[in-house]
Amino acid sequence: MQLPTEADVVVVNTCSVTAEADRAARAFIRRAHRLNPLARIVVTGCYAQRAPDELAAMAGVAAVVGNSHKALAPGIALNLMRPQVLQPVSELIQINAVQAASAPQQVVWADDLFAHSFLEETQLVPGLQTRPNLKIQEGCGNRCSFCVIPQTRGPSKSLPGAAVLRQVEGFVAAGGNELVLSGINLGRWGCDLTPLSDAGARTPSPATLAALIRQIFRQTALPRLRLSSIEPMDWDSELIALLAEFGGTRLARHAHLPLQSGSDAVLRRMHRRYRPWHYAEKVHALLRAAGPDLTVGADVMVGFPGETDAEFEETSALIRSLPFGYLHLFPFSPRPGTRAWAFHAERPVASAAVDERMAALRVLAAEKSKTNRMRFVGRSIDAITLHTQADLAALGRSSALTENFLPVEIEGKLPPNRLVKVLVTGLSREGRLAAQTDLAERPDRRPSAFSA
Ligand code: SF4
Repeated sequence: MQLPTEADVVVVNTCSVTAEADRAARAFIRRAHRLNPLARIVVTGCYAQRAPDELAAMAGVAAVVGNSHKALAPGIALNLMRPQVLQPVSELIQINAVQAASAPQQVVWADDLFAHSFLEETQLVPGLQTRPNLKIQEGCGNRCSFCVIPQTRGPSKSLPGAAVLRQVEGFVAAGGNELVLSGINLGRWGCDLTPLSDAGARTPSPATLAALIRQIFRQTALPRLRLSSIEPMDWDSELIALLAEFGGTRLARHAHLPLQSGSDAVLRRMHRRYRPWHYAEKVHALLRAAGPDLTVGADVMVGFPGETDAEFEETSALIRSLPFGYLHLFPFSPRPGTRAWAFHAERPVASAAVDERMAALRVLAAEKSKTNRMRFVGRSIDAITLHTQADLAALGRSSALTENFLPVEIEGKLPPNRLVKVLVTGLSREGRLAAQTDLAERPDRRPSAFSA
């Protein structure tokens, strides 16, 4: 990370999802202050929300702006600059600067009302990122016992449907081909909104994620939409029906369902809202709807307080029983202010056991991924080309991602953001699909709007 040594104000956006994220943020602030002692440091983000006083006590920190006040951060930063440095600023920043100036001595800006937090609406275009994330939801009202997000980001809020449609239309007009809908708890999109008014419908649709996706397909010409992580129980029948209808054409056959644990007892201690059998039922329902080419991924947490060998074995067994394409594995990290912080004090899992379990799941995840990818050798699949990293380009190959979320190395140099058909010839040394462009087949370029 670059450290601005000449800046008047340094804004540090922090994460607090693990103890390691906190440590990295503190180290960055200390280094920024050491290299540029005159700079006024503004700390924002999740750590600023979770423990503002801790950060306010650090040398060089002039303001701590929690997520509850993040919309004011530009104005607060401007107020800390030397007047001669100020340039004409946007309307939003001017408004925030006025609000921030009303309390010039304030160092800590954080509360649990989240009245000054917002979902940013900046037009996405295909640029450095071929497949950008469109964040349409923020915060979470669940209370998983290990998670600080409800404290650090507040309750669920959604970008209104009209704003989402504007964004998607703008992205398509700029030549975009694949967009990822994302959020902290994406399946909760719309819970805080009134019903969607749809140009073609007599009555407004309920503000649900499934209704929003139907509207995107009806009113825009977006070629491919991908959904980021969705909680298992938020995959309702409407969303699953969309995969049956559009999976493999306009909706990517890719479902990421956080699992966390395959043990009923551990899931209860985590305060997760499903049992292992519910999770397995959802995965099977998704596979029935989208077909066997669906890539299913999951997050798994290892070493939750009190996790016994037998409970860990239940997780391994559930993972073995389901056709995962990939797993994201995390060791449990105790977060102050959560219920699991106290559980950890009572029944911590020894770090040697956590390391051993992580290693075992890494092996299992690698086997699952390889088995899944090998199924596609000899087959032709849709993909989108990406920006190719230098080492691969030097070998005369291009990076791509299949519609069902498998990384590909294509023979030949291709620019990013092309929708292509690839013929899979094997696996590369790194485990990606090795492929050629399939000249025998040409994918349809773009659907027309209103055709869904
Ligand atoms: S659903 Fe996700 S974001 Fe919400 S509390 Fe649970 S882990 Fe945290």
